[in-house]
Amino acid sequence: MRKVNTVSEETLDNLVNEGQSFPPPPAFAAQANGTADLYDKAAADHEGFWAEQARTYLTWSTPFTQSLDWSNPPFAKWFADGELNACVNAVDRHVAQGRGDKVAIHFVGEPEGDTRDITYSDLHAEVQRAANALADLGVSKGDTVAIYLPMIPEAAVAMLACARLGAPHSVVFGGFSAEALHSRIDDAKAKVVITADGGYRRGAPSALKPAVDAALDHGDTSVEHVLVVKRTGQDTAWSDRDVWWHDALEQAAPTHEAQAFEAEHPLFILYTSGTTGKPKGIFHTTGGYLTQAAYTNAVVHDVHRDTDVYWCTADIGWVTGHSYIVYGPLTNGITQVMYEGTPDTPHQGRWWEIIQDYKVTILYTAPTAVRTFMKWGADIPAKFDMSSLRLLGSVGEPINPEAWLWYHKHIGGGRAPIVDTWWQTETGAIMISPLPGVTTLEPGSAQKPIPGISAEILDDEGKPFTTPEQVGYLVLTKPWPSMLRGIWGDPERYKETYWSRFGEKYYFAGDGAKYDANGNIWLLGRVDDVMNVSGHRLSTAEIESALVSHPKVAEAAVVGANDETTGQAVCAFVILRQEFVEEADEPGEGGDLVKELRNHVAKEIGPIAKPRSIMIVSELPKTRSGKIMRRLLRDVAEGREVGDVTTLADSSVMDLIKTGMSSS
Ligand code: ATP
Ligand code: MG
Repeated sequence: MRKVNTVSEETLDNLVNEGQSFPPPPAFAAQANGTADLYDKAAADHEGFWAEQARTYLTWSTPFTQSLDWSNPPFAKWFADGELNACVNAVDRHVAQGRGDKVAIHFVGEPEGDTRDITYSDLHAEVQRAANALADLGVSKGDTVAIYLPMIPEAAVAMLACARLGAPHSVVFGGFSAEALHSRIDDAKAKVVITADGGYRRGAPSALKPAVDAALDHGDTSVEHVLVVKRTGQDTAWSDRDVWWHDALEQAAPTHEAQAFEAEHPLFILYTSGTTGKPKGIFHTTGGYLTQAAYTNAVVHDVHRDTDVYWCTADIGWVTGHSYIVYGPLTNGITQVMYEGTPDTPHQGRWWEIIQDYKVTILYTAPTAVRTFMKWGADIPAKFDMSSLRLLGSVGEPINPEAWLWYHKHIGGGRAPIVDTWWQTETGAIMISPLPGVTTLEPGSAQKPIPGISAEILDDEGKPFTTPEQVGYLVLTKPWPSMLRGIWGDPERYKETYWSRFGEKYYFAGDGAKYDANGNIWLLGRVDDVMNVSGHRLSTAEIESALVSHPKVAEAAVVGANDETTGQAVCAFVILRQEFVEEADEPGEGGDLVKELRNHVAKEIGPIAKPRSIMIVSELPKTRSGKIMRRLLRDVAEGREVGDVTTLADSSVMDLIKTGMSSS
């Protein structure tokens, strides 16, 4: 019966915390980079504010004289007559300023004991050789390079080497199939692919290069060479176009003089998660992107170069890995942890052990991970000393209040502020978030646009409103430095997707949002996911949050399925917390539990939100970046053939769910 006691204690705690807010701890506020005056400065002079950040955080080879050029909307130029090199900003200048011995990356491989510390000097030596190696293979300014690597330091080196040459990179997540890789290589017309023999995943080497071979064997390809990092040492098929990374770097000249590029020179292309449809090739340029990545990493993640050990758990194949593993933190010259593997290899406390070993001070992760840890139970992190943590961050999806409170208490020791950061591949960097030394935190809300960013919520007619609890469309109202410059090769799709819904005055983010009574912004999921039940607009995020606030539920996904009488009906898919899984398996219990959960939603939101069906599942379909793919669940709920699953992290999940569906 102990189990039950733990749960009621937790439920009680959360009842006490309901609606509670968390002011910044005074000691934190006293040392914070992000201060309240930034809001006033940015409001007084938008362009001047950003110009100041660009000068503060970056080193320019040619100083810019103009901040924003918005003469041809929606195509922005920032700092356009300035010149810089992104790699020099992220690496060389730290060495030149005497910080070469500082650790840039504490690399932790998945196999235990497989660790490497890489200093800024080490990184400097590697990026110079890698840039020369790429140049030897014919890569020069403007050529694109595809990167398909596991989470190893060479992934960062490869990106920086491309940046050093002015060759835009297109990183493709290592978990993608040959087909997904092929379409991205083709779309970007990559000249070189950088990959590895394999990486470690769930305790075993997992091959990567065969997918590259299969992608290129499709025939016609722009790819001339494949550079292969030896990571696992497994047997690897070899052809004439293949070159070992270590051979190429060894043969390359050790020094490379970096050239400066125009601020608007393309830095990278990155495809969106594909949560709602076919991924879009978003492209970013150099000066504005780097400015906002470094600035937000400083004021939101509050990194301090001399004292922090920062860890962002994202994969490098996602925009979070670009901005908050590579470009932001390295430009700021800080020390960070990079981990190759899964959180449960070899045990479910692996992350907490890494935090304990490296005395990590700042942790930036996704709600999906937090909910997984909730499912595994709080006794796992409790075994480790995580007193070094002083700030936590969340990104990727709305973090429901229940998960926020769990994260705050069991990971942050009730002491570390949490920054819930809203942004997109398209925005390049954080847009809406608390400032941890300034904002009084409200669990579940990303709260306010950061200094320098302006957002509004519009109604169906495109009119801004501030009425609390009314659901509308989130838009951004002013150009920002790290905004996408377009969709690669498709300017029309760029205009149509982002700048047509409410005219060219507003960037349409595609997310639903509302204000609360205190003027905080709550993100409510994709506009495509907002349901209409008997004429009522319901948000998936709110119903999911209500389900997760039930003590037996770890994670939930909600979709609207066509319904003859109500237009759409709420269908929920629910993962239970570990200790209740058995209970649900007992005959009869499942049915009672479903009833209990339906009533719980009715109580939390109202009878209109009561799910028509609730299915208990063991996994949910997620993208590579951990986001729930509701469109696939909608296919299941509406009894259709399941759509495009190429961006799914684990394609067997849909089979499991369909089997469960037909047997229930
Ligand atoms: P696609 O555009 O191809 O459908 P995607 O939108 O999932 O894919 P990303 O750019 O990786 O691709 O994700 C951005 C989206 O993630 C945002 O539009 C928003 O829906 C969601 N998101 C990110 N951070 C937050 C957050 N802190 N709170 C709520 N939602 C968030
Ligand atoms: Mg999107």
